[in-house]
Amino acid sequence: SGGNFEALHLDRITRRFHNMVALNELSLTVRRGEFIALLGPSGCGKSTALNCLAGLMPLSGGRIMLDDRRIDTLPPERRGFGMVFQNYALFPHMSVRKNIGFGLMMRNVPEKEAARRVNETLDLVQLQAHADKLPGQLSGGQQQRVAIARAIVVNPPLILMDEPLSNLDAKLRLEMRHEIRRIHHEVQRSTIYVTHDQDEALSLADRIVVMQDGVVQQIGTPEQLYNAPANLNVARFMGYRNVIAFDACSPLDGRRMQVHRNGVTLNATLQGDVAGHRCTVAIRPDDLRIGDPENDPEGANSLDGRVIEVEYCGRDWLVDVDTAIGVLHARIPQAATPGQRIRLVLPADRVLAYPQGRDAAMA
Ligand code: ATP
Repeated sequence: SGGNFEALHLDRITRRFHNMVALNELSLTVRRGEFIALLGPSGCGKSTALNCLAGLMPLSGGRIMLDDRRIDTLPPERRGFGMVFQNYALFPHMSVRKNIGFGLMMRNVPEKEAARRVNETLDLVQLQAHADKLPGQLSGGQQQRVAIARAIVVNPPLILMDEPLSNLDAKLRLEMRHEIRRIHHEVQRSTIYVTHDQDEALSLADRIVVMQDGVVQQIGTPEQLYNAPANLNVARFMGYRNVIAFDACSPLDGRRMQVHRNGVTLNATLQGDVAGHRCTVAIRPDDLRIGDPENDPEGANSLDGRVIEVEYCGRDWLVDVDTAIGVLHARIPQAATPGQRIRLVLPADRVLAYPQGRDAAMA
């Protein structure tokens, strides 16, 4: 069947619209069974990449190989990829069962075998009870399950999902996210999933491709991206809300740096190579902690500041603290009040220093 392959290779795939490069030399190897998220802001080229993969749009350059077979010259139906869209795209006049079985009918799968596979897939997506309903009689989440079942039932080599959860409300989105992960674990089908939501990408994907302006910024596991973003674009996307330019930095030892701004010196961890001696520092709000005056003396990677804004988040609080290096956002486990003075500790291994370049100008 179509599921028998070792790897899908995207080899510098490029797509231009007139002079505009929407997708610039994306290279990626998707292993069998792997779940890949394409993550990036609106306009970064995610949908273009997906449409090129599906065969809905020709490449301007590069190749797509399934093992050693070139497939980018094949029409969509000969690639045989499963597609799941944001708007479900179900047949409104067909029952759930018929919707799921449609692809099997088109492929002339014998009726008995088709019925068995549809039943198995109905079990997989837990829709047996709704098999004879029309899509219009289902909730959004149930309709999306039908769309997923329809994509899976034909046993495609690859499933492409384009923001499949974005039409669902927040609670259902979380449920369906969990559901997609469960289904993926059961069927182990290679999947490429487009999203602009970093939480979705982190929780679903084996590896994430972060894109910006058509260019890959980083490819890595969720942990790699979350803990060691390759550049400031990725850092911002991964929730490093504190991005601060420093005037000078000097090497300490190994990957340790000292960074200086407004009379403040912090120990930081170098990301990438420092070209020149200016750098920009990125820190996640949840990596800051409240220091106590005795164990965290001022200066030892701690800063005193005044709370200016407090937001209650259920489990913890997000506070904005005015300090000598600017306003820092911190996620802390205790309440605070505006005007209160607090000491923030910035652990050196979580203060990431990026060489100052084009990125930093946007900080
Ligand atoms: P979104 O999440 O908003 O869909 P995206 O990351 O999927 O964004 P794409 O839809 O791939 O981004 O678009 C990438 C770039 O290519 C954008 O600047 C877009 O304006 C441009 N673009 C996409 N399709 C076309 C087209 N048919 N003609 C001209 N430009 C296009």
